[in-house]
Amino acid sequence: MTRKPLIAGNWKMHKTVGEAVDLVQALLDGLGDVADREVLVCPPFTALASVRPLLADKPIALGAQNMFYELQGAYTGAISPIMLRDVGCSYVIIGHSERRQYFGDDDAMVNRKLKAALANDLRPIMCVGESKTQRDAGHAESIVTAQVRAGLADITAEQMQSTVIAYEPIWAIGTGDTATPDDAQAMHAAIRRTLVELYGAEVAESMRIQYGGSVKPDNADELMAQADIDGALVGGASLKADQFLRIIQFR
Ligand code: PEP
Repeated sequence: MTRKPLIAGNWKMHKTVGEAVDLVQALLDGLGDVADREVLVCPPFTALASVRPLLADKPIALGAQNMFYELQGAYTGAISPIMLRDVGCSYVIIGHSERRQYFGDDDAMVNRKLKAALANDLRPIMCVGESKTQRDAGHAESIVTAQVRAGLADITAEQMQSTVIAYEPIWAIGTGDTATPDDAQAMHAAIRRTLVELYGAEVAESMRIQYGGSVKPDNADELMAQADIDGALVGGASLKADQFLRIIQFR
C-alpha cells in the first residue's frame, strides 16, 4: 500500500496578511515537482481569505488550525466548519497539543470537532501525543493510543478515508528536540495497530499518520524514510520558505 505523504505547515499565531501572502508566493515559486506528495499550509484565520486566490489550481491545499463544532450561533470568537469551507479550506487541524494545553480541548471536544469537520467535507488532522513526564514514566504508548481511540469514537471506516492522524510528542514541539526516527516509527506502528483493531487492516494500511515535533530540513529525510511515517506536521520550520521547501522536497 502506498500512501501519499502529507507535508503540512502549521503557522500557529504567526504572519500578518501581507506576510502570509508573501510566504505562500515564495512557496509557490520554489515548489518544483510535488506529484508524489501532498502539500498543505494552515495560516491563521485572518489570512485564509487572502491566500486562497494564490492557491487556486496550485498543488498546495489550504487548511485551518482549529474550528468549533457548531455550524453557527452565539459562540463569540468561534469559527465554524461552514466558514472554513466557504473560505476555501479542505483540511483542519484538530486537537493540537497547544489547543489541549491552553484552550481546554479534551478528547471529547476533539471527537465532536472531528465529527463536525467530516460532516462538512473538511479533512481533519487529529493530533495526539504524550508529555515528557508521561514518556519518562513509560506511558507514552498507552496515552497516545487512548487519545486515538477516544478521538475516533463513532467515526466510521468510510470517514477514516478523509482523516489524518498526526503524532506529535509534546516534548518535541517547538523545542528542537525531535523523536528519534526509531522512536517515532515505533509509535506510528502502535497507532496503526490500534487502527487495525478499530477498522481492520485495509483501512489502517490506507491511513496517513504524520509526525510532528521539530521537523527541520536536516532531519526530515530520515524521519520520512520510516515505514509508518506518512508526512510531517511542521511548525517553526514552515514559517520560512526555504526551510519548508526543503522539508517538502524530502527524499
Ligand atoms: C506543530 O506546530 O505542530 C509543531 C510540530 O511545531 P514545531 O515543528 O515547531 O515543533
